[in-house]
Amino acid sequence: MADPKGFLTTPRETAPTRPVEQRKQDWNEVYVPGGLLPIISKQAGRCMDCGIPFCHNGCPLGNLIPEWNDYAYREDWKAASERLHATNNFPEFTGRLCPAPCESACVLGINQPAVTIKNVEVTIIDRAWDSGDVTPQPPDRLSGKTVAVIGSGPAGLAAAQQLTRAGHTVAVYERADRIGGLLRYGIPEFKMEKRHINRRIEQMRAEGTKFRTGVEIGRDMDGAKLRKRYDAVVIAAGATAARDLPVEGRELGGVYQAMEYLPLANKVQEGDFVAPPVSAEGKHVVVIGGGDTGADCVGTAHRQGARSVTQLEIMPRPSDDRPSHQPWPTMPMTYKVTSAHEEGGERVYAVNTMRFEGDEDGNVKALHLVEVEFQDGKFVPQPGTEKVIPAELVTLAMGFTGTDQRNGLVEQLGLELDARGNIARDKDFTTNVDGVFVAGDAGRGQSLIVWAIAEGRSAARAVDHYLTGASILPAPIRPTDRPLTV
Ligand SMILES: Cc1cc2nc3c(=O)[nH]c(=O)nc-3n(C[C@H](O)[C@H](O)[C@H](O)COP(=O)(O)OP(=O)(O)OC[C@H]3O[C@@H](n4cnc5c(N)ncnc54)[C@H](O)[C@@H]3O)c2cc1C
Ligand code: SF4
Repeated sequence: MADPKGFLTTPRETAPTRPVEQRKQDWNEVYVPGGLLPIISKQAGRCMDCGIPFCHNGCPLGNLIPEWNDYAYREDWKAASERLHATNNFPEFTGRLCPAPCESACVLGINQPAVTIKNVEVTIIDRAWDSGDVTPQPPDRLSGKTVAVIGSGPAGLAAAQQLTRAGHTVAVYERADRIGGLLRYGIPEFKMEKRHINRRIEQMRAEGTKFRTGVEIGRDMDGAKLRKRYDAVVIAAGATAARDLPVEGRELGGVYQAMEYLPLANKVQEGDFVAPPVSAEGKHVVVIGGGDTGADCVGTAHRQGARSVTQLEIMPRPSDDRPSHQPWPTMPMTYKVTSAHEEGGERVYAVNTMRFEGDEDGNVKALHLVEVEFQDGKFVPQPGTEKVIPAELVTLAMGFTGTDQRNGLVEQLGLELDARGNIARDKDFTTNVDGVFVAGDAGRGQSLIVWAIAEGRSAARAVDHYLTGASILPAPIRPTDRPLTV
């Protein structure tokens, strides 16, 4: 156990952030660089090393949280990093981006603020990189088997790293021009600087994983031919078919899907553009959708110099505290203020968009909304609550409806989809096609990075077993498993 009295004597303290006015002027991560190190060992010391650590179950990776909390408390960073990597290939991604369902399941959280698990995680891995403890781990021998991984998001990368380390020859195919999936072209730089992806890719290359960018399987290369060329295929192509808003004026200029808007800002940071082809500068911006993707649009619009930013959500405002029907240790739906929300803008709940109004040039200039109440399974407009707000740039961030691969990869391989539009798989991540596996959002639907990594690791074990009849890779989390939290 870390500090036997830590939870009694040390209050919870989280990562310090830079002042809002300063961070809105740049795209760097919002946190004070190195700000966690002076406080984190005492924070790790708040861990009670519970007999039954519910945080293990809260974390989809089954991270060994009390073990690395103990090492972090003792400042044995090397051992902490080893324990962290035992279950997580990329803690620098989850330590920055995970909503931390582990903390919702922390036993201390029953009657006190939970342990800052996510902050401990990111400190351990950042220190490990800084001190040279993260090194390539190439396999001792090659199996002679080949695997193609389609998609280079966290699921594809995790599967590829596990399979390479197991001795298979792995090639990752990515349709975008850079590796990383939504980590690269979705999540803004201010949430995670892309240098973290780049150094992992270097580690993976040194271990032997091959990367092919700018190749869309199903368009540039036939899916069935790819299957014949490799001994196994892992589909980790994400779930990026975006939900649309088919109301009057949807076709107007200035109305974009969030994933048409956000990647352009990422590309400016990569040096591809001097200025973003779609910018919020000087505009009244409306973001439709109150989730994480919407928050990323809010933070991006602030940095581009928006005149105003309004975020609309059809659901009522969540409560500040755990609702009684989502008791500990579940992950509750509570009101969250992200770093983007701290930076300004207005959040409007329980409203629906009726139509967009355009100007003489065919560009959106206003949005007509109405308040709604949820009655008998429907959102019912409330008479007399209609309102018009200025809207010169609108981003739609209303979630995703499954794979966008129906006409390419799915058809060519003859893959079955499930009722939600995702690629169907059984509990071993196997699709209906022999030797074809699916991991991450492609099989699960739009989810979380931690789930993508967990599924990539699990699918890798299933592939290893398929190829060799046995596997020493860690035991899988099955897609049918639902932890207590997500
Ligand atoms: C804007 C946004 C912000 C988010 N923020 C967070 C967050 O803060 N925390 C969090 O936990 N989760 C977040 N998520 C969700 C998270 O990013 C995803 O759950 C996760 O990235 C899924 O990983 P994946 O590997 O399954 O798929 P993806 O990351 O979607 O990667 C799939 C990759 O496959 C490639 N691909 C697709 N089809 C083909 C093909 N035919 N051939 C070759 N390549 C192909 C795609 O180009 C893409 O690079 C966010 C999602 C969005 C959209
Ligand atoms: S990956 Fe997420 S759930 Fe798991 S320990 Fe880290 S922050 Fe918690």
